[in-house]
Parts: sequence; C-alpha cells; structure tokens
Amino acid sequence: MTQTCPTCGLNYRNFRTGLTYQTVYDMLWVGGDDTGQWRYKRRHTVLGLWHQIKCELWEAHVTGCQPETKLGIEPPETISY
Ligand SMILES: [Zn+2]
Repeated sequence: MTQTCPTCGLNYRNFRTGLTYQTVYDMLWVGGDDTGQWRYKRRHTVLGLWHQIKCELWEAHVTGCQPETKLGIEPPETISY
C-alpha cells in the first residue's frame, strides 16, 4: 500500500477517517430479535473495521487526489463570524 500520497504528499499515518471509535462501534451493531445476526463488538473487531475503513478511504484519496486540494484547510473567504 502507498504510504505517502504522490499528489499532495499526505502521509497515511496523518490521514484521518473522520470517524470516532463510537461511530465504528455503532456500525457493528445489528439490531433485531435474531441475536444470531449480531456481530461481536469486541475492541479488536472495532479497531479492525476502523482500519479496514481507513485503508479504503486512503486508497480512494490517493486515487482521486487533486493537486489543488488542500485537506482540511478552508479558504479564508469562507470563514464568517
Ligand atoms: Zn493526496
């Protein structure tokens, strides 16, 4: 896997999914009466899914990254008080 985005230079380690532990945790929860459909929500399961999501988002970023894209930096003119 590419560790650094060839376009913007962002490092994978500094890449953020924007998801919280709780969000990923909730994604694992399958409601309903059939407990056989429920997935275990052990910590490593949550972290495993989180890592999987991050990898997918990272690959999508590297594939679709545009040179003019400034991640997480809003143009000053969009800031209002
Ligand atoms: Zn990039």
